[in-house]
Amino acid sequence: MTPNAWFQCFRGCEGRYPLTQIIYECPSCGGLLEVRHDTDALKTRLGKEWRGLFDERFMRTDWPYGSAVWGKKELVCPVIEDDNVVSMWEGGSNLFWAERLGREIGCEDLWIKQCGNSHTGSFKDLGMTVLVSMVNQMLHEGQTVPAVACASTGDTSAALAAYAAAAGIQSVVFLPKDKVSTAQLVQPVSNGALVMSLETDFDGCMRLVREICQKENIYLANSMNSLRVEGQKTVAIELVQQDDWNVPDWVVIPGGNLGNSSALGKGFLEMKELGIIDKLPRIAVAQAANANPLHTSYLNNFDTFEPVQAKTTLASAIQIGDPVSREKSIATLKQFGGVVEQVTEQELSEACAQADRTGLFCCPHTGVAFGGLLKLLERGEVKPLDKVVVISTAHGLKFTDFKVRYHQNELSEFGVEPTRPNLPVELPAEYNVVRDALFRKLDSAA
Ligand SMILES: *Cc1c(COP(=O)(O)O)cnc(C)c1O
Ligand SMILES: [Zn+2]
Repeated sequence: MTPNAWFQCFRGCEGRYPLTQIIYECPSCGGLLEVRHDTDALKTRLGKEWRGLFDERFMRTDWPYGSAVWGKKELVCPVIEDDNVVSMWEGGSNLFWAERLGREIGCEDLWIKQCGNSHTGSFKDLGMTVLVSMVNQMLHEGQTVPAVACASTGDTSAALAAYAAAAGIQSVVFLPKDKVSTAQLVQPVSNGALVMSLETDFDGCMRLVREICQKENIYLANSMNSLRVEGQKTVAIELVQQDDWNVPDWVVIPGGNLGNSSALGKGFLEMKELGIIDKLPRIAVAQAANANPLHTSYLNNFDTFEPVQAKTTLASAIQIGDPVSREKSIATLKQFGGVVEQVTEQELSEACAQADRTGLFCCPHTGVAFGGLLKLLERGEVKPLDKVVVISTAHGLKFTDFKVRYHQNELSEFGVEPTRPNLPVELPAEYNVVRDALFRKLDSAA
C-alpha cells in the first residue's frame, strides 16, 4: 500500500500539487501549503494496527523504518522511495519523568521530551530528513536542483548542512555578517555548507534566499516548506507511543516561527482521525516576551495579529517578530484549547538554572517552555495532577556561552540577575585549606 500525499493550500483552496514540485505558496491566495494525506486509504488500517506497526519498527534496524520519523513513513511522506531516504536514525529521543523538578514546581506528573538529544542537537533534524530525502528523490528522478539553501543563524542551518552532506547534496547557508557566533557557524562549516556571509540582517538574508530560490531553481529549506512539518509532527506520535499510547493532558512547547507548534497539532489531529488515539491534549505555546506577537494575539482572542520588531533574546532561535506559520499555529491552538504564555529573560534564565539543578542541561528555548509552565501552574491553568510533557527543543551544549555568562553574572544587558550562580572555588593546593573550604561549602549547602 502506498497511500498518496500532495501539497494543498492550508486555507482550503482546491489545487493539488505533487510533493516533487518546487512550490511553497498557494498560487491562488498566497497562503502556505500543507501536506495532505489520502485519509481514506490510511483508514484501511485500524488504529490498533497502526500502533502495532509503529511499535514493531521503533528504533530497530530495518531501513529506513528504524528511524523514528521513517517508522511512520505512511503518515509522513509515503511517496519517497526507501532507497532515496536520507536518514541518520533521527527521532527516538528520550521521554522521561522529571521527578525532582516536577516535585519542586508542584507538577508531579512532569515529563520531558528531549528532542535536542539528536543528530545535530535540535528537533530540526526531524523535519530536515524529510526535506532532504525529497530533494534526493527529485534528483534521482532527473530534476535539476543545483543546491538546497536556507537563511538561519542556528539549528536549521546545522540540520540542513548535515543531511545534505550525508546525501552528497550541496547546501548553502545565508547568514548576516558579524552577527553570528563561532558556535553557530561551526556545524554548517564542518559539514561543508557554502556559507554566504551577507552585509545585512537576518530579514535581509531571508529576502535574498527566497528570491534566489525562486529565480534560480535552488530548493528552499526554510519553514515555509511544509515538508519539514511532516517530519516534525512525528514528535506528537512518538511522545504518545513512548507512553504506551497514552495522551498527556498538556504539551508545552516554545514558539518562534510557529512551525513546530503547528506540526505538533497536526500529528495529534491525524492520529485521532486514524483512531490511533481517542482524545487530544491541550497545547501551551511559550514565547520570549522580547518576541511575543502570538502572545499578544492570544490576549486578543486571536482576533488580530500584529507582527512586532523582535528584541534581542537569549532564546535566539525564537527571536522572530513576524512568524511564517502563524495562521497554522493559531488554527492549532483553537482546536486544542490552546494557551500562550510569555517569559522574560530573567524568567527563562532562572527556569534553565532551576531545571539544570535537577540534572537537566536546558537550552534557553526549553527555559522558555519551563518558565511558561511555571506561570500556567501559578495561574491554575495547568493543575498539579495534570500529566504534562515539555518539549525540549535543543541540546544545552549548543548554548554553553549563555550558561557560562549566567553563572558569571554577565547577562545584565538582558536584565538577568542570577539567583543560582555556581562558580568554581579557587584555592591553593594545600590540604587544610581545601578541606576547610570544602566543608564550609558543604555545610552552607546543607
Ligand atoms: C527552531 C527552534 C525553535 C522554534 O520553532 P518554531 O517552529 O520556529 O516555532 C525553538 N527552539 C529551538 C531550539 C529551535 O531550533
Ligand atoms: Zn490558497
